[in-house]
Amino acid sequence: MDIRAGTGIDFHILVEDESRPLLLGGIKIPGILALKGHSDSDVILHAVADAILGALGEGDIGDYFPDTDPELKDMDSGRIIKHAMELISKKGFRISNCDITLIAEKPRISIYKPSIIKSVADLLSIDQKRIGLKATTTEKMGALGRGEGVSCIATVLLISD
Ligand SMILES: [Zn+2]
Repeated sequence: MDIRAGTGIDFHILVEDESRPLLLGGIKIPGILALKGHSDSDVILHAVADAILGALGEGDIGDYFPDTDPELKDMDSGRIIKHAMELISKKGFRISNCDITLIAEKPRISIYKPSIIKSVADLLSIDQKRIGLKATTTEKMGALGRGEGVSCIATVLLISD
């Protein structure tokens, strides 16, 4: 049996933009807040994808989905996860669990947690019980504490029989 752990971290600038949807783990969070970025800026999915790529030793999401590619503008980040999942099966692994921590003063995600967990579990093809999702703040310290952005840290464990 082979076991691989991976960590991913991502940051996006938080803005008020009613025209841009705010996506976290593939779930639309209603309101005027949005995350800036080239793709749909789903900070949770980006951290999870980088954790998978890290566990596989396969670089990072920027290697496959560069933010300079005009075709990838506002791209659904589910595509990034699908690509990472293809690499997992190509290398003979499966996901044992995924642990996610969102660091943000806003938005508050407590009521969306069950939908985000279900969405991420579906994307990773694992049971919802194998997803950990926590949210924390920086106690108002620094740029994240001033609500200038949102960060996410994700850890995955990959196993092969
Ligand atoms: Zn990102």
